[in-house]
Amino acid sequence: MTQVSIDDTTHGEPNQRSEPPNGGSTLQTPQPGVWQRDAHDVAADLKVQIERGLSDHDANERRERYGRNVLDATVVVPRWRKFLAQFADPLVYLLLFAVFVSFVAWVLEGFVGVPFDVIVILLIVTTNAVLGYVQEARAADAVAALQRMAAPTANVLRDGQTERIASADVVPGDVLLLAEGDAVCADARLLEAASLMVAEASLTGESEAVLKETRVLAEDVGLGDRVNMVFNGTSVTRGRGRAIVTATGMSTEMGTVARLLGGVEEKRTPLQREIDRIGRMLGIAIIAIALIVIGTTLAISDVRTAADVVEILLIGVSLAAAAVPEGLPAVLSVVLSRGVRNMAREHALVKKLSSVETLGSASVVCTDKTGTLTKSEMTIETIVTPSGAVDITGTGYLPVGELHVNGKPLYDALLLDEVRFVIVGGSLSNDAELREDNGVWTVKGDPTEGAFLVAEAKLDIEGERNARFTRVGEIPFSSDRKLMTTMQADIERGGKIAVVTKGAPDVLLKRCTEERIGGVVRPLTDARRAEVLAQVEQLADRALRTLAVAFRQMDHTVPPEATDATEQKLIYLGMVGIIDPPRPEAKIAVAQARDAGIRVVMITGDHPRTALRIASDLGIIRADPSAVISDDEVLTGDEIQRLDDRGLQTAASKVSVYARVTPEHKLRIVGAMRADGSVVAMTGDGVNDAPALKAADIGVAMALTGTEVTKEAADLILADDNFATIIAAVKEGRAIFANIRKFLRFLLSSNIGEVLTMFLGVVFAGTLGLTSSGAVVAVPLLATQILWINLLTDTAPALAMGVDPPPDDLMQRSPRKPTDRVIDMSMWIGIAWVGLVMALVTLAALDSRLPGGLLGGTGTIVEARTMAFTTLVFAQLFNTFNARSDRVSAFHHLFGNPWLWSAIAMSIVLQIAVVQIGFMNKAFDTTPLRAKDWLLCVGLASIVLWADELKKIVKRMHR
Ligand code: ATP
Repeated sequence: MTQVSIDDTTHGEPNQRSEPPNGGSTLQTPQPGVWQRDAHDVAADLKVQIERGLSDHDANERRERYGRNVLDATVVVPRWRKFLAQFADPLVYLLLFAVFVSFVAWVLEGFVGVPFDVIVILLIVTTNAVLGYVQEARAADAVAALQRMAAPTANVLRDGQTERIASADVVPGDVLLLAEGDAVCADARLLEAASLMVAEASLTGESEAVLKETRVLAEDVGLGDRVNMVFNGTSVTRGRGRAIVTATGMSTEMGTVARLLGGVEEKRTPLQREIDRIGRMLGIAIIAIALIVIGTTLAISDVRTAADVVEILLIGVSLAAAAVPEGLPAVLSVVLSRGVRNMAREHALVKKLSSVETLGSASVVCTDKTGTLTKSEMTIETIVTPSGAVDITGTGYLPVGELHVNGKPLYDALLLDEVRFVIVGGSLSNDAELREDNGVWTVKGDPTEGAFLVAEAKLDIEGERNARFTRVGEIPFSSDRKLMTTMQADIERGGKIAVVTKGAPDVLLKRCTEERIGGVVRPLTDARRAEVLAQVEQLADRALRTLAVAFRQMDHTVPPEATDATEQKLIYLGMVGIIDPPRPEAKIAVAQARDAGIRVVMITGDHPRTALRIASDLGIIRADPSAVISDDEVLTGDEIQRLDDRGLQTAASKVSVYARVTPEHKLRIVGAMRADGSVVAMTGDGVNDAPALKAADIGVAMALTGTEVTKEAADLILADDNFATIIAAVKEGRAIFANIRKFLRFLLSSNIGEVLTMFLGVVFAGTLGLTSSGAVVAVPLLATQILWINLLTDTAPALAMGVDPPPDDLMQRSPRKPTDRVIDMSMWIGIAWVGLVMALVTLAALDSRLPGGLLGGTGTIVEARTMAFTTLVFAQLFNTFNARSDRVSAFHHLFGNPWLWSAIAMSIVLQIAVVQIGFMNKAFDTTPLRAKDWLLCVGLASIVLWADELKKIVKRMHR
């Protein structure tokens, strides 16, 4: 892929710079870095108007030319190589080698007969590879599709309009609009920077955020000092900016780093690693047994020719190839990726496969309040000024409502004046926009701020404000400060500056020295301060979100610097109580979480009382919302500050509501909980939440209101910002884990059944009548038969197990500990028990036809093997029902999984074909069976089911 970089010196890749956009020649000669040039010149070189941005047509053309804006250092493996990789298994090599030898023997013997073994084994091996390839490709496609859904986005200017597009579609020349919380997705030269701070640690290692500027830099400076540039992979922690994209994709500074690091390796999840380990362990055991089988068969068989030896070898290798559960990883990735798809349907976008597993074992979910537990449809309900309290009617964003005092319209002019000051103040210190579209009113931006605009529209005073004030500066809101300030030029005062601040009342009051009452400014006494704080608590007890408004008038027209001093010595105007109704589904989800042994913890920036009230309404602190709430049930940011790590750990084990916290506290809370052994899911939306999300076991970001930075840091993105979605995802995670155990139980017990059949059959060949059967080779099953069983049962039934409906009590169990083994001792015992019974019934079927065995039959070895072969296939099919639970009877929800029934039906049809159809008889060394033989096989095979039912009864009684 060719990317453009007009900044040659940055990349040191001479072959990349020869292609300037639109074929201009100005960039062919060495140029100073873009940071040394005027931004407008850079824009001119890139042939873009900075006020309009690129046209869509231009952008498309550039994307064609320079490729997508992605870091794709990963080497793409072609499909044919992925297919061939399916054969890359030592056992398959051995099998192919044995097939080759047997082919050569057939040639040397003068092409006598048809070499069925060779053909059948090649067909089976190829079919297996095709199935494996298809499964893996489908799983990979599903994950790739999800990754596209969770892809980062960026705001750009296109054709004069702001557009939110996928970051991958950003091209050189795009005008990038940057705001707090945005992830910078390309290298770009700044055109505008308003208090723009960018965290560049990922690129430069510098831990402090860098203040950006637009001025031209005279010298060629290092990356960290290019203050008029922003770089791909960094993030905006504060302020706003506009920049023109100069490099995308692998041509960015980050691209250079990615290239140096080489391809990003796909990491196996812990579960995948554990299953690989189990597979390896079993493989070794099975190969050892296969060697014993080969040795013993050689010893007891009547080996005469080289062909006999080849046949015995083939049987041993087939046994190993079939019994080693090499299908496991493919089925596992299919099940995991299906889980990812299901979660997406529930609005939970998982970014990494491993999170699917971790979600299933989550024991604590820490969640924000606003927007996640509540609807975030904010409406100002009450305004409390120094002269009294006024209610404002109306719901939602529809700007229709009236002012009431004690249920009657407000007539007091002084009180009305104070109310107007509070609402106008809140609307001045504001970045939101109130819009009407076909009669539907919406708020663009922060809903808290939108609430002020709606109230202002209800009072119909927005025109006056717009006519009088012009915004000339700002100190943005941050959840650390809990304040927002704008500086306004006031026309009525000859353009002199007014500083208007809104924020959390307890924080803002500390910065107020006076208050405005009845149109007069007077000192804010301690008694009044206490009175206001008591009013805050009253509002908070009604679950209202409180915000206070204050202002200050300067004597000059030059906006003051955006420093802490500007937000001091303020005049208190009053406060508002905002209603933010809880989501009804959140209450249900909290109850579900409680049943599932998951603790829900609310961590909010809001007032402790508001937090407690809502926590109580939702059942987070107790089931009964009417009970008296004690302040001990909440821990505030200030209290956290005073606790050391150990103290916090003790507190964190009990407290479920945290209020007035900052993102830094969130990080400490995650640490304290994880130190306790909890598996923590943590939500976050603000730019500073990213570290806490990364530190959590499962970082959860909000798709609608979250910043790009949190989405990048998260493992899970909630498409609907809804708390209930987290619990739905946990449920899905648990279901997937339960299904993984099901198919492990099925595959392993079936494989052990095959191995034991061969092992015991060879060891007890004399007892079973195998040696007296007249067969040259004394084994219960032939190579092709073993491979056939593998093909039948390792694919469709195993996959069907992966989509089995979840157990009824899935959300009534405690979370799984991350240290718990996927297969515990009791599960191993169950697996071994079923495997043993399976082998015994298969050998019984064999013995029933052989003369001279325990049961003394009169059939031929071919008949006996066909019986054993069929019994083993059916035993494995019966075993699918066993494997659905460790404890619950197979007959519970017997018809709950149509996939399983289809897989079984298909296997039965194929087995009938192998036994009853002439040419298949030749290929598989079988012979047609009579109806009563079939019945005997099915009857014997069903013992596997009854034996496991018996084990389950014992297990249930034991409990
Ligand atoms: P959560 O963390 O659950 O989303 P939150 O939204 O209440 O809770 P913050 O956004 O940190 O948390 O807000 C904390 C406090 O800051 C609020 O209670 C409010 O008083 C004040 N506040 C919130 N938004 C603004 C804003 N845009 N301007 C000024 N103050 C605000």
